[in-house]
Amino acid sequence: MEQGTGSQGAVIEVLGEHVRNQIAAGEVVERPSSVVKELVENSLDAGATHIEVALEEGGAKLVRVTDDGVGMAEVDVNRAFLPHATSKLRLPEDLEHIASLGFRGEALASIGSVARTSLLSRRHEDELGWRIENEGGRISEAVEAGCPAGTQIEVRDLFYNTPARRRFMKRASTEFARCLDVVQRLALAHEGVGFVMTHDGKRVLDVEPEMDLVARIRRAFGAELADALVPVSATHEAARVRLEGYVAPPRFSRRDTNRQMWFLNGRYLRDKVLSRCLKEGYRGFLVEGRQPTAFLHLHLDPSTVDVNVSPTKAEVRFREQRQLFGFCVNALREAVAKTDIATPGESMVRSMERRQLAEDPNQGRFREPGVLRPTPPPVVAREVSGKKFEPTPRPLAPVEQPEEGVAEQPAVMGERGDDLRGPFLQVANTYLVRALPDGFEIIDQHALHERITLEELRAEVQSGKPEVQRLLVPELVEVARAELERLKPRLEELAGMGIELEPFGEATVAVHGLPARLKKPDAQGLVNDLIALLEEKGETPSLDELVEEVLHRCACRSSIMAGDSLTEEEIRALLERGRALESDQTCPHARPTRVRFALEDLEKAFHRR
Ligand code: ADP
Ligand code: MG
Repeated sequence: MEQGTGSQGAVIEVLGEHVRNQIAAGEVVERPSSVVKELVENSLDAGATHIEVALEEGGAKLVRVTDDGVGMAEVDVNRAFLPHATSKLRLPEDLEHIASLGFRGEALASIGSVARTSLLSRRHEDELGWRIENEGGRISEAVEAGCPAGTQIEVRDLFYNTPARRRFMKRASTEFARCLDVVQRLALAHEGVGFVMTHDGKRVLDVEPEMDLVARIRRAFGAELADALVPVSATHEAARVRLEGYVAPPRFSRRDTNRQMWFLNGRYLRDKVLSRCLKEGYRGFLVEGRQPTAFLHLHLDPSTVDVNVSPTKAEVRFREQRQLFGFCVNALREAVAKTDIATPGESMVRSMERRQLAEDPNQGRFREPGVLRPTPPPVVAREVSGKKFEPTPRPLAPVEQPEEGVAEQPAVMGERGDDLRGPFLQVANTYLVRALPDGFEIIDQHALHERITLEELRAEVQSGKPEVQRLLVPELVEVARAELERLKPRLEELAGMGIELEPFGEATVAVHGLPARLKKPDAQGLVNDLIALLEEKGETPSLDELVEEVLHRCACRSSIMAGDSLTEEEIRALLERGRALESDQTCPHARPTRVRFALEDLEKAFHRR
């Protein structure tokens, strides 16, 4: 049989190597940031401790990566641009325990086929180095060249020979932002390595080798974030898993996931399972659509992960996914609850200052005192406490957990040694104001009570025996037939939550009992909520979901409302109960329960500093 072009009837051709490389390049090299990633990872694999990345025009015109790693001998320089040429993998078994960032031997070949590339390298033990060029797949012979020990690779005019691909590149500023993101992630993942990055000659990142993770985060993202981080550190002995790193308070959340960094055995990755872990860890602390900020290292036995899933290696497969998930979520939740969730007064003051400036651009300062009221509502303030002060009485409601839990919390303002004494000021029968040793806080009474009721109900349901208040005369609630049908299969589960319902005829539900914790039980409202919930969920909600949603609704319905006047005793009992919880900083809808102002904020507001 004849082969090749022109053979009779043949329509299938085996592609030439050059075209194959260009196709492979489509997978590995999507844009300048992928070039940056591959080259810097090679430098890291070569054991570099200083890596310099220089970009021009967002990397489209030039990406140059220089390192002080091991360098290459002549023979390796000659092989570096060949496809599937790698020093990192020898045997199929090696795939089981890959420790290097690269291993496919595709990157340089791919990059070389779609750009004008040159490589300059010298091993520390050699006197002279070698230089080789690759112009769109045409590879030169290595020639001797003087150069510092280490490797420098220059990639010019990316996609100059594939115009279709070139058109996919975005504006230089966008491509640059992606490159910066890549280098920042790598810099965070590799303590012990220094990074310098420039764009069109300007220095944009500078990280010294000695810097630890927090110092790197401070360099990359600023002190405000770095100072607010709370450490995570947990080990699962049996599964040989370790989770370490930092979570940020919910106020650092954003619309995108750019400040969400997972490192798996030192390799950064975007992985759906891990993203979900984070989301779950922040559940109840973030409003829909916001992404938390966190920097996390996961250490796993390499044989329990498969990193060989996609060429960009951004995703992996875990063998023990369930177990891993539960472990991570628990560790994360614990840390998230310790972050300072209260909206800090400082940022409020700043935003008011900005608003003020926008209104009156000629004036750089506050116009008159009292601007702490952005839009002054008709406020009726009432001092709740009397003039003289008795020693703190026992709280009205039993407090399950005394202060021990609080002592471990990070230094959240006002929590340590805080005896929850007044005086309290109730404003508009909605907000509670109280002094802290170093400032003051404003509490939204409804939001706080809602959180407390929810957590207490949840604890009861989890313990398996919620206290039920039986109604002497069952309350009858009329519903539609279809609604009753939807309710029927869930009656047993609802009873487990202390909600005792029974069908009564074809379109009526009899309410026999409700959770005793509900202060103002509203049978009718609750049944309607339940029906709405089952309808809204479309498919049947899982038991967990049902519990969560039902409890939310119960908590909301039976909480102190905005507008309820409270005595000092009631206020103190509320604060005590809040403090006994793992976290009382947000309501179940993730709105803050309290806003804190430090003395510093006040000093700024009054221009004392
Ligand atoms: P891979 O990283 O998957 O092995 P690459 O195409 O990225 O494949 O690189 C091919 C080979 O070139 C590497 O295995 C390594 O031996 C060598 N190499 C590439 N970059 C460097 C560097 N900065 N320093 C030393 N050797 C390098
Ligand atoms: Mg590589």
